[in-house]
Amino acid sequence: MKPEEHEAPFVRNGSLCVGDVELGRLSEQVGSTPFFAYDRAKITARVAAVRSALPADIDLGFAVKANPMPALVQHLSREVDWLDVASAGEMQVALDAGTSPARVSFAGPGKTDAELRRAVAAGVLIELESATEARRAAAVGGVLGIRPRVAVRVNPDFTVKGSGMRMGGGPQQFGVDVEQVPGLLEELRDLDVAVEGFHVFAGSQNLQSEILVDAQRRTVDLVLELAAKWPDEISYLNLGGGFGIPYFERDRPLDLRAVGDNLRRLVTEEIRPAHPTARVVIELGRYLVGEAGIYVTRVVDRKTSRDKTYLVVDGGMHHQLAASGNFGQVIRRNYPIAVGEPRRGAERERVTVVGSLCTPLDLLGDDVDLPHAEPGDLIVLFQAGAYGLTASPTRFLGHPEPAEIVV
Ligand SMILES: *Cc1c(COP(=O)(O)O)cnc(C)c1O
Repeated sequence: MKPEEHEAPFVRNGSLCVGDVELGRLSEQVGSTPFFAYDRAKITARVAAVRSALPADIDLGFAVKANPMPALVQHLSREVDWLDVASAGEMQVALDAGTSPARVSFAGPGKTDAELRRAVAAGVLIELESATEARRAAAVGGVLGIRPRVAVRVNPDFTVKGSGMRMGGGPQQFGVDVEQVPGLLEELRDLDVAVEGFHVFAGSQNLQSEILVDAQRRTVDLVLELAAKWPDEISYLNLGGGFGIPYFERDRPLDLRAVGDNLRRLVTEEIRPAHPTARVVIELGRYLVGEAGIYVTRVVDRKTSRDKTYLVVDGGMHHQLAASGNFGQVIRRNYPIAVGEPRRGAERERVTVVGSLCTPLDLLGDDVDLPHAEPGDLIVLFQAGAYGLTASPTRFLGHPEPAEIVV
């Protein structure tokens, strides 16, 4: 997608708006820059689009780590069927939002005994990442006199090529290798835990539907094979997610229909005959919220160095690390960027937009084409709704925390 195509969904009557509030007015409402703004209606619309593409009897989950802002999680808690958390802190945000613990899973390696204790006490579903974690969860349950609800997170024996981030296949810190699962199931029979099902999450940030279709087919084969090894009824099959969003100029949006059609076939023909009432979950993070958020900064300085013009803004990589290219990217490419309220008749020019941190890494837009901007003007970065503020080194250089707002 071209940068203007990212801007377009936020433009109303020629002005950049979040919800129906114009950006200039919104920045006055917030009272300071930089800030993150998330658009409730866009999230709702995205959830509706996903639901209409997916089979009706799939539960849609939100991976809270993509954006744990409490007001946003509260909004999503009402929109989706399931919340997946990756720490006790996220669990608290999910429960504070009014989510029933019956609709919360807790995944992630390295859950401490203290976290397991909180999870068992709360009654959420614990996604076991290892045999030792299974034993520790059972021990905690014994101490509390509460039977832990558990599922086995499985590290599959296939990898998903083309994932922006691979989280399954080969050696991984995530999940239990599929070869080790039968042994773990033997052990789980003797532990005082309620085994509800299985979870496979193979990878993240996929834009190619053929790759997702293939991964889902293998995932379904795998969870059905494992579920058949468990003597009691399985009530939970989490197929992961990995739906990607376009960040860069040549990225094409995911073909949601192709992915949904494949899932409909898999659920109807393969899963339902064996598990008519099991909860089948697809869990999405960035796909639900990433494109609904913007990061708004203000130009503090405009300067020329040799042949280059720099716009220095009051934000930077300490808030939006991913836009600087330092959050897992191999090659740095520009996130879509715009001038918030371009001056009337402003000529376009090539500029480099940098943050206010004293490091060359703090680069937000390298040699980008923007309307002429001066100190005081707003610069907006798109695709900031997921892995933004909480995935950034906010303490670096000791600037104040930015505001976050849901509109
Ligand atoms: C991070 C994570 C997700 C969400 O990934 P996205 O790329 O944001 O969709 C889903 N499931 C698990 C287990 C995760 O760790």
